[in-house]
Amino acid sequence: MTTKMDVKLETVYQDVLKRNPGEVEFHQAVREVLETLGPVLAKYPEFRDRKIIERICEPERQIIFRVPWQDDRGEVQINRGFRVQYNSSLGPYKGGLRFHPSVYLGIIKFLGFEQIFKNALTGLPIGGGKGGSDFDPKGKSDNEVMRFCQSFMTELMRYIGEHTDVPAGDIGVGGREIGYMFGQYKRLTSRYEAGVLTGKGLDYGGSLVRTEATGYGATFFVKEMLEVRKDSFAGKTCTVSGSGNVAIYTIEKIHQLGGKVVACSDSNGVIHDDKGIDLDLVKQLKEVERRRIKDYVEYRKHARYLPGGNIWEIPCQVAMPSATQNELNGKDAALLVKNGCIAVGEGANMPTTPEGAKVFLDAKVAYGPGKAANAGGVATSALEMQQNASRDSWTFDYTEKRLANIMKNIHQNCWDAAEEFGAKGNYVVGANTAGFIRVAKAMVAHGLI
Ligand code: NDP
Repeated sequence: MTTKMDVKLETVYQDVLKRNPGEVEFHQAVREVLETLGPVLAKYPEFRDRKIIERICEPERQIIFRVPWQDDRGEVQINRGFRVQYNSSLGPYKGGLRFHPSVYLGIIKFLGFEQIFKNALTGLPIGGGKGGSDFDPKGKSDNEVMRFCQSFMTELMRYIGEHTDVPAGDIGVGGREIGYMFGQYKRLTSRYEAGVLTGKGLDYGGSLVRTEATGYGATFFVKEMLEVRKDSFAGKTCTVSGSGNVAIYTIEKIHQLGGKVVACSDSNGVIHDDKGIDLDLVKQLKEVERRRIKDYVEYRKHARYLPGGNIWEIPCQVAMPSATQNELNGKDAALLVKNGCIAVGEGANMPTTPEGAKVFLDAKVAYGPGKAANAGGVATSALEMQQNASRDSWTFDYTEKRLANIMKNIHQNCWDAAEEFGAKGNYVVGANTAGFIRVAKAMVAHGLI
């Protein structure tokens, strides 16, 4: 389902479809942004004259490369690596690396496109980019992951640097992978360039709160949305999809704020624990032992494991999709609303389909789209870059306060922009317009490049 678009923007969109065939996630992300920009072009005709939208839809640079590596049996494996350097108007390209078998150019471009506006919303000096590989770290030994990361970085190192492009983690890329890639970068360049990657370990230039940042930030964003409605997390039943980095720290912050998370998931099934998810157990299973979420019920006998289950069927007041794109569709959204859901905060990127988003907006659910709600991760990456540049490291409390403040500002800017462009309370319009205007103004200032 799609909304009607400004006629000139529809022409731009049709051109995007033609130039990027088959990249359906990218098309979806572009459409969602373009649908909201008509009133912005009416206010800023110079954006139209200078073809800012046409330029913003075309990445500055797209790099695709071969990643050969050897598995533990000595067999040669070939994967494909990507880095899309999307837009550098506001700073060095910044955005994560995703290692997942579903990765292809269309996924990286959708993520890179969203990243431009997300990074602009943080107010920090970072451009937008994204990368990754169709490599699947699941079931691989540490040595295999290391050999893959080394091969991946051997090519990627030509294109990145603390002032050029600063990758971080995403699905399938956590502290272990960042460590291996940093080691290889250091070895190949003979430089200790801490600011070239973020999400590093605390022993070698990482920032406190970076691990927690996306989940904490998304929860702070929802807290702000609830406060507008004179409400809070206290006593709320919540569900959080996924059980990776974003999901775990979303659950942690919701519990700290007095909510109760009763379900989480992975791509195989759902855990429903109506006494509240035992987060120490989830961390032990997922972060330490790298096991599947189904093992939760071995230790918590009262909980249920629903193989192939749909987490959105479990009633909740706050839903936080934190796994992957298009994991929540129109039917799921309608069911959530029917079951009393009043707020949705997207920890994942584009987890809600356009049909789902429409259901939430029509039902006046407080709906925080990913590019605003999950910006806390990249914002804290930018804080890690600041600490690296000044050879400093900040305390947990100080860094968390900065994160909370950034999320408060993002929420306020989205709120104000939505109101200015005639869509009060619509954070999709707010996030797209506020993010776009900042980038567009910088592009106008830089001339035709
Ligand atoms: P992780 O790899 O740590 O975890 C991903 C989680 O999502 C896993 O539990 C995984 O399960 C689950 N998952 C993946 N695909 C599916 C699926 N099709 N159905 C159900 N569950 C699924 O990744 P992150 O937590 O880092 O990333 C999660 C989301 O958050 C992504 O959309 C990412 O782009 C976004 N994000 C992440 C940021 C970060 O700082 N890490 C920053 C901003 C956004 P399984 O193990 O079965 O695959």
